[in-house]
Amino acid sequence: MNDEIRETVRFVLADDNEGMRAASAPDSDLDEEDKQMNRELIQRHEQILAKLDRAEDLSQEDLVLIRDANEIHVNDTLDLGGHHNEAIALEEWLASMIDLDRQKAMQILEQWLDRDPQTPAGVYRALHTLGEEATPNDAGKRVFDGEGRCLKCGSRVSFADVTDTAVFVGDEIVKRYAGDITNRNCVRCIYPKQYSEYEDCDGGSSIRANRHQSGAAQR
Ligand SMILES: [Zn+2]
Repeated sequence: MNDEIRETVRFVLADDNEGMRAASAPDSDLDEEDKQMNRELIQRHEQILAKLDRAEDLSQEDLVLIRDANEIHVNDTLDLGGHHNEAIALEEWLASMIDLDRQKAMQILEQWLDRDPQTPAGVYRALHTLGEEATPNDAGKRVFDGEGRCLKCGSRVSFADVTDTAVFVGDEIVKRYAGDITNRNCVRCIYPKQYSEYEDCDGGSSIRANRHQSGAAQR
């Protein structure tokens, strides 16, 4: 951490504390619960400031709190508070320091790809394949919205593998447990050649074509 970053961290934490102290004054109309939360956060900020004084390493949790406090200055694009540029520099530094989970990593890459309208669909496909390989169990979940619509192209048609668990007694299935959907992929994005077969299902209709692969006996 260089001196400029350190100074910006001190500033954003002190600035946030000042705002919270004012909001938690005895005559403010903030409710008691929020006042208490403010007091705790002020204390956490003070602990981080004390670590800086001792030149101690900051934890991941510290970094996230700093990012939260910095946000208001990052969003201050008109620079009314006069700290916008320092805040941007701090944000970049935090981005290099805060651990990246897989979902966040995918999001960063996707946002970057979205900047170029020429990005071929195959590049998104490659990205999603890597993401799915790493997370077989919730593969594809975040690729669709709550109504099963592809976040990329809006199509509602997807291919999915569904693994049911069947209970066999002898050769007879006596019970079937509905399985998890895995490897769900937008047909229009990922299997464009097959999309024409299902195109009629799309476009406002609620029909969704799924490829089922069921009957796996696991128990
Ligand atoms: Zn799609």
